[in-house]
Amino acid sequence: MSSQNKIFLSPPHMTGKEFSYIKQAFDTNWIAPLGENVDKFEHQIASFVGSKGAVALSSGTAAIHLALAVLGIKKDDKVFCSTLTFIASANPILYQQAIPVFIDSEPETWNMCPEMLLKAFKVAEKEGELPKAVIVVNLYGQSAKMDEILAICNHYGVPVIEDAAESLGSSYKGKASGTFGKLGVYSFNGNKIITTSSGGMLVSDDKELINKAQFLATQAKDKASHYQHSTLGFNYRMSNILAGVGRAQMEVLKERVFLKRSVFKKYFNELSTLPGLEFMPELEGTVSNRWLTTMIINRNKSLVSSREIIQKLVENNIEARPVWKPLHLQPLFKGRKVYLRDDRFSENVFENGVCLPSGINMDSSEQDRVINLIKKSMSVVMS
Ligand SMILES: *Cc1c(COP(=O)(O)O)cnc(C)c1O
Repeated sequence: MSSQNKIFLSPPHMTGKEFSYIKQAFDTNWIAPLGENVDKFEHQIASFVGSKGAVALSSGTAAIHLALAVLGIKKDDKVFCSTLTFIASANPILYQQAIPVFIDSEPETWNMCPEMLLKAFKVAEKEGELPKAVIVVNLYGQSAKMDEILAICNHYGVPVIEDAAESLGSSYKGKASGTFGKLGVYSFNGNKIITTSSGGMLVSDDKELINKAQFLATQAKDKASHYQHSTLGFNYRMSNILAGVGRAQMEVLKERVFLKRSVFKKYFNELSTLPGLEFMPELEGTVSNRWLTTMIINRNKSLVSSREIIQKLVENNIEARPVWKPLHLQPLFKGRKVYLRDDRFSENVFENGVCLPSGINMDSSEQDRVINLIKKSMSVVMS
């Protein structure tokens, strides 16, 4: 069995056109973190998602860091952040020496729970110290409940940073995911829906913030022919070579979303009737890019645990993983404040969640291999 091809969780998928844009960079000798590919890639993203400005960066993490920096987040400021997410959503809070406060997820989107967010705001208000920003994550392509979350944040006058690293190509009520906050973040890491091998993008309708981010990303160089610096900057711009990869990848983004959704649909059609198996929902009015197909195993209805299913798949040369470990459970964030629901939803998803192989270059027989193994491992019935 394990002699069969390895099936990966979300491998990169090149279109073949990347080389022509990379070649352009070489032909014109623009091998710097600026040039035509960078400009064109920024325009492509901005026009695709409908934002006024975009700046291409070396990673999604850098984009989150700059979002905090341009909002003026500094030492000891509080920043609210989804707890059910990848560590990169919150690490930049620590880069700024600010204080993360984590918010639980809710069952309809697996993302930030508006009730817990409101509770956190009320406590912060009573303590006389509101957060300076809220980082909202759109997990595995699914948008958070943006209307409810924005209503709360607007009421308190606190800006939202939308971590849309996993949700490029998704939408919420007809508007692109990543364009709801003051600033939005995309990632082009190797495992994301499109990739530049490593890269990120910061978007906003506020041109001033985008210009400021671009300034900070290029060492905060003052306008002078000599090298003069008055503020602390970073080296965070995207290489013109990698932006060439991004240009070709953007051309197929729409098709990628369709194919990712087809992968999900096949899993759903084959597996959703198994007792105890529940796929990540899609909130009404939203379209998820279904970057990863994920599910939870309801232990009241299944004798088999999520970890047993993962083990079974891994033994058969198939990459499957638990859902992100909530940040409030990470040793790095031990002792940090967290607002949990009574059902501790994020912890429940972590314990019982499975991420399934969702590569769009996975062929039908490979996906059948995954499906049949899940059917087999879940065939143990309750007596
Ligand atoms: C991938 C990811 C990031 C970080 O993006 P990089 O480009 O890898 O730095 C941030 N947040 C989430 C939710 C991610 O999945």
